[in-house]
Amino acid sequence: MNPDYSLIVSQQRAFFNSNATKPVAFRVQQLRKLKVTLQANEQALMEAIDSDFKKSEFDTYTNELMLVYSDINEAIRNVKKWTRKKRTRTNLINFPAKSYVIPEPLGVSLIIGAWNYPYQLSFAPMVAAIAAGCTVILKPSELPAATSKIMAKIMSETFPQEYIAVVEGSVAETTALLEQKFDTIFFTGSVPVGRIVYQAAAKQLTPVTLELGGKSPAFVTENCNLNMSVKRLVWAKFLNAGQTCIAPDYVLVHQSVKHAFLDALTEEIRQSDFKIENGNYVQIINERNGERLAALLGQNTIHFGGTYNRETRYFEPTVLADSSFDDSIMQEEIFGPILPVIAYNDLSEAIRNVKERPKPLSCYIFTSDSQIKQRILSEVSFGGGAVNDAIMHVSNSHLPFGGVGESGIGSYHGIAGFNAFSHYKSILDKSTWFELNLKYSPHSLKKLNF
Ligand code: NAD
Repeated sequence: MNPDYSLIVSQQRAFFNSNATKPVAFRVQQLRKLKVTLQANEQALMEAIDSDFKKSEFDTYTNELMLVYSDINEAIRNVKKWTRKKRTRTNLINFPAKSYVIPEPLGVSLIIGAWNYPYQLSFAPMVAAIAAGCTVILKPSELPAATSKIMAKIMSETFPQEYIAVVEGSVAETTALLEQKFDTIFFTGSVPVGRIVYQAAAKQLTPVTLELGGKSPAFVTENCNLNMSVKRLVWAKFLNAGQTCIAPDYVLVHQSVKHAFLDALTEEIRQSDFKIENGNYVQIINERNGERLAALLGQNTIHFGGTYNRETRYFEPTVLADSSFDDSIMQEEIFGPILPVIAYNDLSEAIRNVKERPKPLSCYIFTSDSQIKQRILSEVSFGGGAVNDAIMHVSNSHLPFGGVGESGIGSYHGIAGFNAFSHYKSILDKSTWFELNLKYSPHSLKKLNF
């Protein structure tokens, strides 16, 4: 029998309805509390993630906790401003009146996390929910079991369940949670599960933010700073062993620079020496994904790497040099350290190929040619991205982060996160000293000068 979460949800609804979460002072206090707790437990958080997939302290700090701290600081600095009512203009027919929108918290929120950046993908949405004045039920991914456990422990020691609760579990637990009525659902994960969450939310007319995945292309054009492009691309692709939603999934390189690009690429990978013991690489999350990645290599000609050690779950950084859009590896998100390189002669055709596929979460353009840059930016639809860099756009909380089309709905970080958990209530606030009598009987079009 599936577990019943109606009690937690009703406790949270009662707490929300008590208005306790609404004062700005309360929100700031909770954000500070979250930060202090995370800081106090950094060692335990790092040990948990290391035991799950051998993520180093440096990587855990820089691409998990630091991003959460930065979101917390940004929210603490700005939440007062974000919660203020915002004046708008009033049209003549409503004179005399003021018009404004008031942000209000949506209410009881459900946050479902993905496994690949377990802390960031659980706590960054939680920061947004707290700043907006919502309560939170967090369901972290079950795959990194130790991180899920430590998050549940720390949160239960820090916050009352009626405000922030962690529900651990996998499909059965998430399915049971999705039967409850929430005021908003924030989901990070794969496209197929995103569809399941969206359908469950639709039954209750619950608004959603869906942070999904897909195949993010990187264009490398004939005129770019090749060494710098390769350096940044290699870091971005093999960070977290390619298990990053916004990792460059594949490269589209102009034929004229293909060989120079491949030489620079393999040299950079060699020099980076991606090894778990070097602290710059992680394990593949589990056997199933390791096998999936090994099978994806299929009949492809491997230009570099290609080995997978099932015992250590170490998948070597791998480059496929002669890929095409028809290859099986181009039919699904890779989500691992394999980089197919597809050469193009005609930019129009490369763009057309990208556009024929689902809209990617990210797109990267390595070029020194501003016309090419403008062309790709205006012709290709994608969630967000970078020019002459990759992944780093997520570190700028002033940029809303999210997908479009099949790569997601909505966005977060900074004020975008606050907005994801808020509703803007529109108010016409009228004075009583004057009335324009046009709408009352007796009606006459003449009165309107019609
Ligand atoms: P996933 O979709 O398998 O799981 C995500 C969450 O959904 C987990 O908490 C899991 O327990 C739950 N879940 C799994 N199956 C379910 C089901 N049938 N019903 C209800 N809930 C279910 O994704 P994942 O493997 O954890 O993460 C990888 C995917 O997430 C990739 O596609 C990646 O691109 C995407 N991702 C996106 C972002 C983003 O910010 N856009 C970030 C990280 C990962």
